[in-house]
Amino acid sequence: MRDLRQHREALALNTATLGHRSPIEEVIDRCAEAGFGAIAPWRRDLDGRRPADVAARLRDRGLVVTGYCRSTYFTHASESERRAAIDDNARALDEAAELGAVSFVLVVGGVPEGLRDITAARQQAIDGVGALLERARAAGVSLAIEPIHPMGAAARAVVNTLAQALDWCDVLDPERAGGLGVMVDAYHVWWDPALETGITRACRDGRVLGYHVSDWLRETRDLVTDRGMMGDGVIELRRIRGLLEDAGYTGPVEVEIFSATDWWVRPEREVLQTCMSRLLDVC
Ligand code: ZN
Repeated sequence: MRDLRQHREALALNTATLGHRSPIEEVIDRCAEAGFGAIAPWRRDLDGRRPADVAARLRDRGLVVTGYCRSTYFTHASESERRAAIDDNARALDEAAELGAVSFVLVVGGVPEGLRDITAARQQAIDGVGALLERARAAGVSLAIEPIHPMGAAARAVVNTLAQALDWCDVLDPERAGGLGVMVDAYHVWWDPALETGITRACRDGRVLGYHVSDWLRETRDLVTDRGMMGDGVIELRRIRGLLEDAGYTGPVEVEIFSATDWWVRPEREVLQTCMSRLLDVC
């Protein structure tokens, strides 16, 4: 396994971890000062800014962009809403390209209100991702399907295991022509008995576009915004990184913590320092 102390470029921060409290310019500066070499901004961070200006600051501070977060949901009750989502995601892809992002992170959407048909929702999501693929390839930004913990199947994403996400990749990109893969988020996949098989397959097929870390708190109070700091929960983070790296993964290890009542209310510098020390010590 890599010694992450020797790999600044692999130490990544997803800006959601700081709770979107400060302007992106300050976040970029603090992130670089804390020793990170990579960052994953959200669309809301760019609100009212030119992506080229943000990209210039990132370059200046020596930060690379891992993934741009995140897609509008592809799943909707009506055809016109589904088309609008694809258009919106196409605009986000252009922003991602201007930022120099490696990937555009896809949280595909849950079961649309009034539908009660997860099979149909899954097909909508596959069709939506497929509709973006050529544009992504042309933009030089890969589409990263993020499987979401099954508790999020209704409201957030109907792709729920690594194997399922990889099956979608095979359907949409049978030739493995590139531009499509998966985002492996430890928080969403740690519980899966087939995780090892999935990681081996994903790496073999060249599909792993990134790796997110946080921790699963034993007593979780909110399905989205109660993630733990690495080391405070039950996920075997060293083991999962070991599986990825044994299978050939050499990309970033990205901290992504949604924590409305804890880390989002602590001073940003404390959060960044803790993230860095836990990245190096427990991930
Ligand atoms: Zn994630």
